Amino acid sequence: MTEIPGPRSRELQGRRAAAVPPGVGSVLPVYVTDAGGGVVVDVDGNSLIDFGSGIAVTSVGNANPRVAERVKAQADRFTHTCFMVAPYESYVRVCENLNRITPGDHEKRSFLVNSGAEAVENAVKIARYATGRQAVVVFDHGYHGRTLLTMTLTAKSMPYKHGFGPYAPEVYRMPLAYPFRWPSGPENCGPEAAAQAIDQISKQIGAQSVAAVVVEPIQGEGGFIEPAPGFLPAIAEFCRDNGIVFVADEVQTGFARTGDLFASEHEGIVPDIVVTAKGIAGGLPLAGVTGRAEIMDKVHGGGLGGTYGGNPLACEAALAVLEEIEEGKLTERAHRIGEVMLPRLRALAERHPAIGDVRGRGAMIAIELVREGTKEPDPALTAEIARRCHAQGLLVLTAGTYGNVLRFLPPLVIPEHLLVEGLDVLEAALAG
Ligand SMILES: *Cc1c(COP(=O)(O)O)cnc(C)c1O
Repeated sequence: MTEIPGPRSRELQGRRAAAVPPGVGSVLPVYVTDAGGGVVVDVDGNSLIDFGSGIAVTSVGNANPRVAERVKAQADRFTHTCFMVAPYESYVRVCENLNRITPGDHEKRSFLVNSGAEAVENAVKIARYATGRQAVVVFDHGYHGRTLLTMTLTAKSMPYKHGFGPYAPEVYRMPLAYPFRWPSGPENCGPEAAAQAIDQISKQIGAQSVAAVVVEPIQGEGGFIEPAPGFLPAIAEFCRDNGIVFVADEVQTGFARTGDLFASEHEGIVPDIVVTAKGIAGGLPLAGVTGRAEIMDKVHGGGLGGTYGGNPLACEAALAVLEEIEEGKLTERAHRIGEVMLPRLRALAERHPAIGDVRGRGAMIAIELVREGTKEPDPALTAEIARRCHAQGLLVLTAGTYGNVLRFLPPLVIPEHLLVEGLDVLEAALAG
């Protein structure tokens, strides 16, 4: 309808600048009035195709009718009691669901908090308590949140850590199996990276000092890096042999996003603790910590919790989301999205040498942009292509340690014609 952002969005952006600090960014400053299963409508009447899902959150579609109905009905009954004061059934049902659907058929326990970062922090607290150890191992290109502990766990300095130190102690970073950038090539990447990481953990920290290894089964903010085959199983086995709690941060990869309910399943990993958030509740703030009963049950009464954790509106939303995923077979839909996107992107890569790598699984897909004929990251081109996509009404996100990854996270319910139209916009943006 108008250029993007349009006049009313620009006016709101002016008000925002006087009310909100610039530290809180926005990918695309169009102010939203409505959104659905793959389209975002702004205050100027523009409809944008949504390849972001609010960062992998609205997988079942925005304002999903089942989610909206359940939340409205709950809001009429009660909005809060605090589960630590007087509990309610929906919280227990969400935890039963998490225990049922996360990898492994061992006995599990779950509890609920408000954000991915809070869930990761709790996983670390529990692992430390259960093992009596302190060290936490994380990986290059990892992202785990913005609180003091989780920004420490996060790899990238600018913008997540820069100037916000001192950081939390006892956090150690290891090499990650990044196939595209592994010096001896992608074939050797998995075993070599695992051997390096295990050697460094053993020599520099001592396996007996490590409470937890925290890893994203596909790295999100770090650039949708799928660790090379063999890497995650080797790290998980090392943890098992040494009494280390293996924590899978499935905040971005969880809830059908990658074509499996959880990305750990792809290589048959059974984590000791699984951390979930983003796609869990259709946009209502909720996160989960799910772990082996014998680890979770160790912590003393009152040691875990929070005022809002497992808010009843968010729990109702989560129950609705899981019904949508299971009844709508959304893991299959995620697969199908990958089947449409990957061949199209690979064909584009043949014609555009700036596309150095095409990767991802299901509806978690990315392209990495480089200077022609090299592997040198091209963040300027990446920003320019994102800008062209935005101007033509396609909402895409960037990512990556080097800022040179375009990532695609369409809602799993996006109609195929919108997916194809979005890819057409991307193709035109790449052509210049
Ligand atoms: C987004 C994200 C987090 C942090 O979640 P918040 O809800 O923003 O605190 C943690 N880990 C991963 C893998 C994420 O993608």
